[in-house]
Amino acid sequence: MARKFFIGGNWKCNGTTDEVKKIVTTLNEAQVPGEDVVEVVVSPPYVFLPVVKGLLRPDFHVAAQNSWVRKGGAFTGEISAEILVNLGIPWVILGHSERRQLLNESNEFVADKVAYALSQGLKVIACIGETLEQREAGITLNVVAEQTKAIAAKISNWDNVVLAYEPVWAIGTGKVATPAQAQEVHADLRKWIHEHVSADVAASVRIIYGGSVNGGNSKELAGQPDLDGFLVGGASLKTGEIYYINWRNGMKAKEDPRSNNRNEESEEEEESWDDSEESSSSESCCPSSSFNNNKEYHQNQNQNQNNNVLVVAGCKSCLMYFMVPKQVEDCPKCTGQLLHFDRSQTNDPTSPSPSPSP
Ligand code: PEP
Repeated sequence: MARKFFIGGNWKCNGTTDEVKKIVTTLNEAQVPGEDVVEVVVSPPYVFLPVVKGLLRPDFHVAAQNSWVRKGGAFTGEISAEILVNLGIPWVILGHSERRQLLNESNEFVADKVAYALSQGLKVIACIGETLEQREAGITLNVVAEQTKAIAAKISNWDNVVLAYEPVWAIGTGKVATPAQAQEVHADLRKWIHEHVSADVAASVRIIYGGSVNGGNSKELAGQPDLDGFLVGGASLKTGEIYYINWRNGMKAKEDPRSNNRNEESEEEEESWDDSEESSSSESCCPSSSFNNNKEYHQNQNQNQNNNVLVVAGCKSCLMYFMVPKQVEDCPKCTGQLLHFDRSQTNDPTSPSPSPSP
């Protein structure tokens, strides 16, 4: 059964009206596959939901980051599923580890929320995942199975549920799970669902990965057979990082907006509003990135040179040199910060450069 690739952007508790509009503009201008291929859902803070919904391209959708556990009423500070439905918000993220950990949301409480949100017609991104201690204790599957079991006990229809496997140790830390680690948990979880829910649900439910995903590491993760998409936090706030949307099975580098569709705005310093910015460009290096093959990368870039001004850039992290379109600011190998050299419009990476431009 085909499972449509799913990309969620979790903006968490970040942004001003102007910053939110800027991200939406970038998303609206992005060249990505159609809705039939990839489902894109962004989740701004509550107060920005109407403005984002109003401005966002119609093939992308919005999600709230939480909803109250039952019918609204005298629950100051909460937002009910009914309110979201009334506002035309189709999705809600529930059980994010930040809420489980900081606000003590239990498996049962999250499961109740999932069941109530579904009963009101919302679609749910239900987050599960183990802490570092649990992983080191070898109980990762037990933990995610318990979290899933609590949900399974309260719902009978999984059509509108996406499970987001988000190891807590990978969220906002820059320590992304390796593709093998992610695939192992996704496959084990699917097997668990097969045995404890049904074969149909196991075959159809989308299990997406979240935890320090960015443009550099997303391609290899996306190639894992049981990984059906991403929930992206920090990188979804960066206007230049939207190309993780394009990394999925079978897509070619030339379809990456980094190489042929960056707008003027993205030439500016890339912005991040969360405090995980540093980590997303450091430890999240993907050593086996397909871009390790620099020859292939250069060929792809050269194919697009009519659309791009190529410059020589050196990576501050892995110390390699690349020919990249002027607007590319992340290292194609490790996603570290590129230092551009001021020799635009030349294809000779060996040309000496007078001075690095910041
Ligand atoms: C998240 O908040 O769901 C998340 C995965 O965050 P990050 O990508 O920043 O690790």
